[in-house]
Order: sequence, then structure tokens, then C-alpha cells
Amino acid sequence: MDTIVVGAGIAGITAARLLHAAGRRVVVLEARDRVGGRIWTDRTAGFSVDRGASWIHGLTGNPLTELVTALGMRTREFTVGSFQAGGRPIADYDESRRLLDDDATRMWTTDVETADDRLQLTVAASGPAESYATAAERALAATGWEPERAERVRAFYRHRTEEQCGAEIEQVAAHALDEDAVEGDEVIFPGGYDVLPRRLAEGLDVRLGKTVTAVIRSATGVRVDTENESFEAAHVLVTVPLGVLKAGAIEFTPALPDAVAGPIARLGMGVFNKVFLQFPDRFWQDHAYAIRQHGRAGVPWHSWYDVSAVSGRPMLLTFAGGAWGREIEQKTDEEVVSSVLGSLRGIYGDSVPTPVAHWITRWGIDPLALGSYSYVAVGSSHDDHDAMAGPVDGVLHFAGEATWGREPATVHGALRSGHRAAERILGSPISLAELTRGMNPSD
Ligand SMILES: Cc1cc2nc3c(=O)[nH]c(=O)nc-3n(C[C@H](O)[C@H](O)[C@H](O)COP(=O)(O)OP(=O)(O)OC[C@H]3O[C@@H](n4cnc5c(N)ncnc54)[C@H](O)[C@@H]3O)c2cc1C
Repeated sequence: MDTIVVGAGIAGITAARLLHAAGRRVVVLEARDRVGGRIWTDRTAGFSVDRGASWIHGLTGNPLTELVTALGMRTREFTVGSFQAGGRPIADYDESRRLLDDDATRMWTTDVETADDRLQLTVAASGPAESYATAAERALAATGWEPERAERVRAFYRHRTEEQCGAEIEQVAAHALDEDAVEGDEVIFPGGYDVLPRRLAEGLDVRLGKTVTAVIRSATGVRVDTENESFEAAHVLVTVPLGVLKAGAIEFTPALPDAVAGPIARLGMGVFNKVFLQFPDRFWQDHAYAIRQHGRAGVPWHSWYDVSAVSGRPMLLTFAGGAWGREIEQKTDEEVVSSVLGSLRGIYGDSVPTPVAHWITRWGIDPLALGSYSYVAVGSSHDDHDAMAGPVDGVLHFAGEATWGREPATVHGALRSGHRAAERILGSPISLAELTRGMNPSD
């Protein structure tokens, strides 16, 4: 065997497919009974519910754009997937749960733009020991706004880090969202995101139900142990999530050097969970992409996304990130649903019907993820992401969203990291077009 790939998420599948296209013998070991990892489409109800990733965060300059076109995957424009304040119709409710009119909405989005401009300057002047919270406070102080106006933007910043990083604003480094710009429209997948990893895995040697417990490297290559089998190869590419590495679920022998172990310890693994509610009837505005509750009334639930176009049923999606994301994992489904309904009824009144179905994720306690995605914690930097990739002793490589500093926490970041790892293992460039060579477009 030339290469063993650990993990059949988008990073692992991308690397394996490129190596296979270059004529290398590759085996992929995956602990779950499915490929895709944090891309996971639930079709138990007869339509697609994406419990992991939903969006392509920006079509421009994104390798996913060509890939999903080549595979013929249906997409739908939905450009509010990165916690934007405006840009698309959003039904914004103020602290007293009154709908903002057009003027008030314009003023709100302008306020976020003004504060963001100042925030960029304060972030640029910040070091790695400074938090996003500190930088945001300096930016807000510089606006000279009265407390309520500043508080609305402050709450927005808190929620933005909870969603984009899965962590509290005080835990996240000032520079954590530097890479967060979205270029072009965003889209989601009515047919489910998992079509992507499933199609890319076609024809590869993927062994499901194989939990890797140890990686041993020597002068001649590597040995990889699962619970009841061992595999040997010249290279190993480990793509398990950062949470799994932090927990020490895989034993590395010899121990990982500081150049890799340091970033694993310093970077943060955030928690971001989804709650989908399917309703018998639609009770919210027809043309709003999202509903947003501002200020203190937006704790703990503040944003609902109309994903009816994906399922063809009246459906809202809301998120729980950071500490609240971890807290809901300890609650029953009934407790979570009733808590979300309480907030919706605060806005739309008691006529909000009881949902006919719900889907709630718990990524933080999933032993094969132990979190949703990585973030630049206070004391770490984007360079830590890339340093994590290795290689170690020329034989041990890492890939996955946490190893891609320019766009961590995304599907395209994970994909690019898999591409980089394949090129390093091959020792020569290979085009991403090799991923879909000879494949037919079909959804
Ligand atoms: C709720 C949620 C929403 C998201 N939304 C978006 C979005 O809209 N857009 C976007 O771009 N990104 C989004 N992301 C992030 C995106 O899903 C990830 O960045 C990306 O899918 C990670 O791919 P990966 O290959 O790095 O890791 P993974 O997909 O996690 O793959 C790693 C694989 O390793 C396996 N594994 C773990 N331990 C072992 C072991 N010991 N032995 C063998 N196998 C093991 C896992 O089962 C998994 O299949 C979201 C993530 C979550 C959780």
C-alpha cells in the first residue's frame, strides 16, 4: 500500500481520489458507517436535511463551484449563510419585538458596516493575545454611539462568533474572523450536500467501521492500527477532526513533535448545533431569507433561516453555537424544541403551531467529531492551522478543515487541505480537475 488515509470526510476523500488518479494504491479507513463526516444528509423523512454543512460560502474563486457543476448537483441561492447583517431580505425584530421598517433596517445594516470598518482597524492593531471581544469593544467605543445602539451591534458580534467559530467572543482571537469574507453568492443543496463526498468516494477502497487507534512511524514508513487490524504503507494522511486529535483518541508513536502538537493544543474546537423545525403551516413572512431577533431578547435564540425551499415543507433552521451549543446537548429534544418555540411565540404570538417534526444535532458529544469546527483561540494564529498539516518525518501528514489557515471551518478549506496533502505525498502538482475526470453529472 502506498498511502493510508484516516477519515472519509471531504479532506480524506479528496486526497484519496487524487492519489488514486495519479496511480497510487490508497486505502481509506473510516470509523463511521458512512462517508462524508461533517457533511451528513439525513433523508429519513423522505427529503434532505443537512445535519452538518449546508452552504457553499461564496461561489467566486471556490473550487467547489466547478466541482458541484461537474457533478450536476442542484443548488439554490441562499446568501445569508455567514451571519450577514443585510444583503438579502431579513425580517429584523427590535428589542421590543417590533419589526424594523425599511429605514430602521437600513440604519441597522449601515451601523454594522460602520462598526465593522472600525473593527478591521482595531483587529489589524491587535496581537495574538487579544480577544475578539476586546477588539470589538474598542471599535464600538470609537463610534461614540449611545448604549442601546452599540448594544445591538455588540449582541450581533457575540452571535457572529458563536456561529462562525462555535465559541464565545472572549475565547476567540481578535484575528479569528480575518478569513471570513464571502466572495460571491452562497448556495445550498436541495438534493443534499452528501452527494459530493459520496460521488467522490465512488471507485475508491474505503473501509467503513474501521476506528483507527494508533499510528506508528518508522524509517521505512507507517503502521496504522484499528481496533482489530493493522495496515502498513509508505505514507499516512490523518484527517480526523481537531476535537478527536485534542482528545488523544489516536496514539502517535513516536509522540508528535511540538511543531504539530503545539497547534493542536492552541487552536480551539468550537461547537455549533442545528435545530430544524418543520411546521404544518407557514406563519412567517413570505420573502424573508431569515428572521432575526436583536438585543437581549435574542438570547438564547436569535436567528431563523427559511429552509423550506430545500425540503419543500414549511421549515425553519436555527443555530446554537458556543456555550449554548454545548448546553443544548445536555437537554432532551422536547426541552430544546419548547425553548425555540418560546422565542418564536415571543415574536409571532401564541398562534405559532407545534412543529410536526424536528432534527437536533449534537456535534460536541459525537465521539468522531468532538466539536463542529476549529477556530483561532486567543493565543493562537492562522499559521497554527497550516503548521498542523506537517509533514512529520516525511511520512505522516495531516489534512482537514483545521489544517487550512486561509479558510478553516469550511468544506472548501477541507477540500483544499486534501489537495495540498495529495501534492505533498506525490511530490508533484496535480489538478483538482482530476477529481471528476470521467464522471457523469447526476444528482
Ligand atoms: C453543524 C455544522 C454546520 C456546518 N456548516 C457548514 C457550511 O454550511 N459550509 C461549510 O463550508 N462548512 C460547514 N461546516 C464545516 C464543514 O462541515 C467541515 O469543515 C468539513 O466538512 C470538514 O471536513 P473534514 O474532512 O476536515 O472532516 P470530517 O468531515 O469530520 O472528516 C473526518 C472523518 O474522520 C472520521 N474519524 C474520526 N475519528 C476517526 C478514527 N479514530 N478512525 C477513523 N476515522 C475517524 C470521522 O468519522 C469523519 O468521517 C459545518 C460543520 C458543522 C458541524
